[in-house]
Amino acid sequence: MSTPLLTNSLTQQTINNTVNCIGIGLHSGKNVSMVIHPAETNSGINFIRKDVTPGQGFIPGRWYNVVNTKMSTTIGNEYGVTLQTVEHLLAALRGCGIDNALIEVDGPEIPIMDGSAAPFVDVLLNAGIKDQKEDRNIIWIQRPIEYRNGDKYAILMPGSSSKFTAEIQFDNTVIGTNVWSFDLTHDDFKNTMSCARTFGFADEINSLIEVGLIKGGSLSNAIIVDGKEIINEEGLRFKNEFVRHKVLDCIGDFALLGYQILGSYFARKPGHELNHQFIKALIDNRSAWSYITLREYNNMFGIKQPDKDSKEQRLESHAVYK
Ligand SMILES: [Zn+2]
Repeated sequence: MSTPLLTNSLTQQTINNTVNCIGIGLHSGKNVSMVIHPAETNSGINFIRKDVTPGQGFIPGRWYNVVNTKMSTTIGNEYGVTLQTVEHLLAALRGCGIDNALIEVDGPEIPIMDGSAAPFVDVLLNAGIKDQKEDRNIIWIQRPIEYRNGDKYAILMPGSSSKFTAEIQFDNTVIGTNVWSFDLTHDDFKNTMSCARTFGFADEINSLIEVGLIKGGSLSNAIIVDGKEIINEEGLRFKNEFVRHKVLDCIGDFALLGYQILGSYFARKPGHELNHQFIKALIDNRSAWSYITLREYNNMFGIKQPDKDSKEQRLESHAVYK
């Protein structure tokens, strides 16, 4: 069933109840226990490491706290406490339209689960989505912003929805060249986006293990590509699962802005580093965008506000996943 999630809510949202999730860290290989709590309006998405000195584990999930973008997105704070692989959970939160949440973890990494954002979406929908009283702010893109680094390129154009497009080129592999777009405002995040898994290459595995990465990696949490072949017995969830996952990573990295964007992002050969550099370019290019509430935007352009009934209907359609 196609169910648009509540990304269009005029007001901020959190979850109804505290929920738990346990899994292995992809890079550390250690088991991580995670607890997601509801949070106050205007608090955003924040993380707390419970396994460090009390008072030093708090890390706001914001772009200016990014400390590493190799293989995954890592955030950190002034005490040198870091948290790795935040992007798939952040994508799930954004895809479910959750503005405010507090996430506690007892290790250095968010669990990798199955390599996609789908298990997090299930956890969040089980918790239930709660409307909050304050209006939701968005970042309204008014002029194009571009960033280029070698053959990597990204542009964010004005648009009336929140759209992400990725183009990937992996010549001489089963992946090939692919382009895919996802519109957070209209498309079905749970069924077409959240379940796309991360991927890696068989010939790179040993060198990554040597530098202390992917200790928790396995065929149960990544697609492994060996030239023209896919090693995983079960094959792909979508023919273009690779490019879908790249779009998912873009959505997760952009969630670090703290607000949904109203605009259309296109990235050629995207990765966490390109997304992060692009976000810095966006922040620097302050005349190209504005903070505005979604209600103000709709009023300005005469867009009909969703009425109470349609909102209830959308909440009802969530119930099928509970
Ligand atoms: Zn990813």
